[in-house]
Amino acid sequence: MAQIIDGKVISATIRREIAEKTAELKEKEGIVPGLAVVIVGEDPASKVYVRNKHRACEEVGFASFAYELPETTKEKELLSLIRKLNKDKNVHGILVQLPLPRHLDEEKILLAIDPAKDVDAFHPYNVGKIMIGNYDFLPCTPAGVMELLRRSNIEISGKECVVVGRSNIVGKPQAMLLLQANGTVTVCHSRTKDLRAVCRRADILIAAIGKAEFFDASYVKEGAVVIDVGINRRADGTLCGDVKFDEVAPIASHITPVPGGVGPMTIAMLMQNTLTAATAKL
Ligand code: NDP
Repeated sequence: MAQIIDGKVISATIRREIAEKTAELKEKEGIVPGLAVVIVGEDPASKVYVRNKHRACEEVGFASFAYELPETTKEKELLSLIRKLNKDKNVHGILVQLPLPRHLDEEKILLAIDPAKDVDAFHPYNVGKIMIGNYDFLPCTPAGVMELLRRSNIEISGKECVVVGRSNIVGKPQAMLLLQANGTVTVCHSRTKDLRAVCRRADILIAAIGKAEFFDASYVKEGAVVIDVGINRRADGTLCGDVKFDEVAPIASHITPVPGGVGPMTIAMLMQNTLTAATAKL
C-alpha cells in the first residue's frame, strides 16, 4: 500500500516556517510582506479563492490588500490600479484572480504587472526565467508538487517522469522543473498515442488533466510515485482527483490524495513567493 503524501501537513509546516521568517523580517528590517489580490466580477469560486488567500496572509503575518472590482470594470481602470500597485512600496506581490470577465484582455493585464511583483509567475519574463533555470518565482502549483516530492525524500534525478497535461500554469512548468531536477521527462496531452503505455513507464507520474478519476491502475507501474494535481467534482458534489485513488494506492509507492494533496500546497507556495518578493532587495 502506498505511502500517502499529506499535503495538509506539509503545507502547514511550510506556512509555519514562513510565519517565523516573516516575524524575523519585521523585527530586523521593519518589512511586512504585502500581497494585493485583485478580483473582477462575482465568480463564486474565485471569491472563495480570494478569501482563502486573505486568510493565509493573516496566518503568516503578511499584510493583505483586497481589491474587489465590479464586473463592469473597464480595462483602463484595471490597468491603472495595477500601475498604482506596481509603485506601492507596501505591496510586494500582485495577483489578479483569473479568469477575468470576457471584455478584459487577460494577456494585457498580466503583462502590466511588474515582474518583480508577479507572485503567480505568469508574466512572460518570469516564464522565460524558469526556462533557463534562473528564477525568482515559480508558478505555485508545480512548485508545490516539487516541495511535496522534496519533503517526502523522493529522488527525481535519473527517474522517468511523465507529466500528463501541458497547460501554461501546470503541465509545462511542471515538466521544466522536473527536467531541472535531472528527471527524464515526457509530457503527454490529448493527442498522445497510447497514453496508457507511456504512463506505465513512469517512476513519477503527474496527472494534471482535469478529468475525474481518469487514471486507473492500468496506467500505473508497480511502485510508481503518483501525484494527482486534478481537482474535479463528482456528480454527487464531492471532490476527486484525476486518479482513481482506491485502485492506484495499492500499487503505487507514494500517492497524493484529493482533497488534501497538491491543493493545500498552492497557497503555501504563493505565500513563499510573496516572502521572496519582499526580501528580494535586501
Ligand atoms: P487545462 O484544462 O488548462 O489543461 C488540461 C491539459 O490536460 C491539456 O494539456 C489537455 O491536453 C490535457 N488533457 C485533457 N484530457 C486529456 C486526456 N484524455 N488525455 C491526455 N491529456 C488530456 O487544465 P489545468 O492545467 O489548468 O488544470 C489541470 C487540472 O489541475 C484541473 O483539474 C485543475 O482543476 C487542476 N488544478 C489544480 C490546482 C491545485 O491547486 N491543485 C491548480 C491548478 C489546476 P491538450 O493540451 O491537448 O488539450
